[in-house]
Amino acid sequence: MEDLHKHNKVQPHLVLLSSPGLGHLIPIIELGKRFLRHPNFKVTILAVTSQTSDAEAEVLRSSLCDIINIPAPDIPVLTGATVVTRLCVTMRAAVPAIRAALSSMQLRPSAFIVDIFGTDSLPVAVELNIPKFVYVASHAWFLSLVVYLPVLDEIIEGQYVDQKEPLKIPGSSPVRPEDVFDPMLDRNDMQYSECLTLGKAIPRSDGVLVNTWEELQCRDLEALRDQNLMVLKVPVYAVGPIMREPDSETGWDSGWVVQWLDKQPRESVVYVSFGSGGTMSFEQMREIAFGLELSEQRFVWVVRAPTERAADAAFFTTGRGSSDGWSGVLPEGFVERTREVGLLVPQWAPQATILKHRSVGAFLSHCGWGSTLESVTNGVPMIAWPLYAEQRMNATLLAEELGVAVRTKVLPTKKVVAREEVAGMVKDIIGRSNAVADRVREIKRSAEKALSPGGSSNVALAQVAKMIEG
Ligand code: UDP
Repeated sequence: MEDLHKHNKVQPHLVLLSSPGLGHLIPIIELGKRFLRHPNFKVTILAVTSQTSDAEAEVLRSSLCDIINIPAPDIPVLTGATVVTRLCVTMRAAVPAIRAALSSMQLRPSAFIVDIFGTDSLPVAVELNIPKFVYVASHAWFLSLVVYLPVLDEIIEGQYVDQKEPLKIPGSSPVRPEDVFDPMLDRNDMQYSECLTLGKAIPRSDGVLVNTWEELQCRDLEALRDQNLMVLKVPVYAVGPIMREPDSETGWDSGWVVQWLDKQPRESVVYVSFGSGGTMSFEQMREIAFGLELSEQRFVWVVRAPTERAADAAFFTTGRGSSDGWSGVLPEGFVERTREVGLLVPQWAPQATILKHRSVGAFLSHCGWGSTLESVTNGVPMIAWPLYAEQRMNATLLAEELGVAVRTKVLPTKKVVAREEVAGMVKDIIGRSNAVADRVREIKRSAEKALSPGGSSNVALAQVAKMIEG
């Protein structure tokens, strides 16, 4: 403080906005923590929360940043709407509360960063005359697709999924019709028009922060910045990888999981988890169980009750309650038969801690970008099992472009993946003596370089911090 007064400078105060769901709250908190490392920075997070789960409460408690809770407005007509529609409508309805919170802060905000569903609040920053940024907690190829969506909307006729050719994005890899993110699956659904609105809103910010790094996606980043190619005319800052570290998980009783992992041989365990919101059918869960058993490999599996509803059925409620046993969820006798080699964790696991453990040799994952970064930065190769959101694109990027994952022959959302295929993938990848594992190690090193002093992401974040300091 003294230093600030001496130089007659106001303390930089960054305000971040997160939309509901742990998949949004966690990345915003982790970004906030990065800015806290800058001298004298104050970071406040406006968290529009669903207030439904223990996991959310724990994540908020361990955030290190100041948190202002904005309860998600209750909009009854949204029951039954898709996750994206619910998020967009909720965040729009929350704007007055967000405006009130920003305007009444004791220390005047110096800048405002919103997540991808928070763009309706960007005009509040204009009213306050402070810089405004969007944080895309995913990768650059996804960002390209979102900002290019309004152009695709003009030039493509019919449903995207019915196109015979991949969708071309200037300067980036084309997107296969089956890989488009969920809101693009049906152009008549409200979530599609909501995403078009997002695509148009992002370029109206003063800059976009994206959770990737130059070396990982230089081609996509170059294209995004090329004024002749892309629709985005504002700077793009590649600040990643920003992800959860084990020290964020101190509120969880991770001791019993770590103790179990401690007893397993190095790189021998496959970790199975489908992120903060992923769920699957009863039949698919049984095939995964039998597949793990057939593979004869060790595993840690975060188990959620099966559902025949959407693959993101747990999005707003993850971590609520606990399992009262596995009967009726897993095949009969599975728990007893795998007792020596498998650990079942109900609902929510200390994932960053698990992925950092030396015993973990592979990650069967829904390919959420947060989980992906946690995996590759720990040198853990992946089995890609995309379920919802932009995860099909992520799986393609990981398996076909970056070479850090193997994947199912057919998308798991299209067809139940049989136990033999599950077992085969697990056996192929565990042990890390394969091309995929070598590639993950390379990428781990390049991530470390980007984050090191003078590294590209470190420099990009410092640039943004400097703008916030004014
Ligand atoms: N996570 C966790 N325990 C779990 C499931 C998820 O700690 O049992 C964390 C995970 O480490 C990651 C985040 O939740 O930081 C999930 O984000 P991701 O982008 O992978 O997926 P999403 O939740 O957006 O589907």
